[in-house]
Amino acid sequence: MKRLRRRHLIHAGLALPLLPSGSQGAETPFDAVIIGGGISGLVAAWRLQQAGRRVVVCEARPRVGGRTVNLQIAGGEPIEGGGEWIGPQQDAIIALNEELGLKTFPAFYDGDTTYDVLGRVSRGLIPDIGVGDAAGFARVAWKLNRLATAIPRGSSWQAADAAALDRLTLADWLNQQNANPFTHAIFRLATRAILAGYPERISLLWFLHYFGAGGGLLPLMLNDGGAQDQRFEGGSQVLSLTLAERLGSALHLATPVRAIRQRTDHADIVTARGTLRARRVVIAMMPSDIGRIAVEPGWSRARAELIRRWTLLPRLPIVKCALAYSRPFWRDKGLNGAMQSDRAPIQLIFDNSPADGSAGVLSCFLSIAEAPELADRRTRPERLAREVARYFGPEGLEPIDYVEKDWAADPWSTSCLSPLVPGVISEFGPTLRKPEGRIHFAGTETAEAWCGFMDGAVRAGERAAREVNAALRG
Ligand SMILES: Cc1cc2nc3c(=O)[nH]c(=O)nc-3n(C[C@H](O)[C@H](O)[C@H](O)COP(=O)(O)OP(=O)(O)OC[C@H]3O[C@@H](n4cnc5c(N)ncnc54)[C@H](O)[C@@H]3O)c2cc1C
Repeated sequence: MKRLRRRHLIHAGLALPLLPSGSQGAETPFDAVIIGGGISGLVAAWRLQQAGRRVVVCEARPRVGGRTVNLQIAGGEPIEGGGEWIGPQQDAIIALNEELGLKTFPAFYDGDTTYDVLGRVSRGLIPDIGVGDAAGFARVAWKLNRLATAIPRGSSWQAADAAALDRLTLADWLNQQNANPFTHAIFRLATRAILAGYPERISLLWFLHYFGAGGGLLPLMLNDGGAQDQRFEGGSQVLSLTLAERLGSALHLATPVRAIRQRTDHADIVTARGTLRARRVVIAMMPSDIGRIAVEPGWSRARAELIRRWTLLPRLPIVKCALAYSRPFWRDKGLNGAMQSDRAPIQLIFDNSPADGSAGVLSCFLSIAEAPELADRRTRPERLAREVARYFGPEGLEPIDYVEKDWAADPWSTSCLSPLVPGVISEFGPTLRKPEGRIHFAGTETAEAWCGFMDGAVRAGERAAREVNAALRG
């Protein structure tokens, strides 16, 4: 009961511990201040706390979890408004879940997937295409996979031909391979869903970095047995809520950091609620989000440019939506509730029902930039229901509830994903994890494996904690 109450308070943002007021922090500096209460920052803080360090986490939002957030729909189990699935290859997050006693269950994929590719709707394990198209796709995918797994994992800029690979977009490379229209469509489908961008803009080296960090194309793109295999019992935010419980009063919610002033023997961290003093600082967020924090002395030229370029990325603004039904009606028709498309207004639909299937939930990703007809929030549920009905039948027209999370409208995440354009990762990649004075960097984008995923966030947090521990010992 006590645990539940604490969890509720953290979620509601009411458990605000007091910070020292005025411009001066505590006399004895903290060992580390961690900026960002997403998975990465919380993991870094907890590992440091376990090592006996005095830490504080400053989180801007009145909740933990960052790009993971639980939403309530139709009064049932929470569903995921952000990061959702984990896969069997993601051993860092699996180990952490075991340590924290968290449980997962298999996402639902029994039955046919629906594809809307090149304007044609088909159903099955794979899209309905001719043998020639399939063979053409397999040839190109195999070559791309070989490239992705050959570059140094998580350090693509160290590849011998990094600069050349980073001059091309993924579409340039596909054209060089004489890829057929079906192959172009599948990579458009994948980059829309996984990187919020198009092959014509995404750097080939970044695509290889991202997929290579996950072990290749298959582990990332497969549902069953791949990165979309399992869901968290209680929704993915449960990971952050559990870490928040462990951190207790070391966690400061609704405390955005505005500036970091590096001094000779400490750093002053200026927050909206006072200034903290620390020996080390960990920034755990996407490079573009770091731009909101002023630093003294300024960032190195390379980091300033990394932040600037990341901020300017041509992202598709993503909304994750969910429609609830009294039952998962699509399952009766032999469908698994999944729809994947290269061009339709909805990028992806998937079965997000509770583990026992007692109600039906279909979640989907869409980008308003691609579907202006869905821009009006008031008519969006009805229009989405029509799309669902188009793929799964007339029962789709009668949802009993609707919720959404609009990541483009979120003030603390500069959108959710990173479609890097050519010329960024080869030149500024070496800066991603490089400390600047007393400041260390976590966040999934810095991860050596599973960059961009929750597993990467865990790894990056653990790596940053090791770095800080070593620096404090030194
Ligand atoms: C729609 C969507 C679907 C996704 N699906 C999956 C999936 O299925 N599987 C998967 O593994 N991953 C998925 N991801 C990615 C996954 O959610 C992220 O990789 C992971 O949550 C990132 O964690 P993080 O701690 O690195 O960063 P974040 O979660 O972004 O945490 C950064 C934190 O810093 C805080 N912050 C920002 N500025 C300040 C400031 N000035 N002061 C203090 N705090 C600040 C933010 O509020 C935030 O809490 C998805 C993401 C989205 C958005």
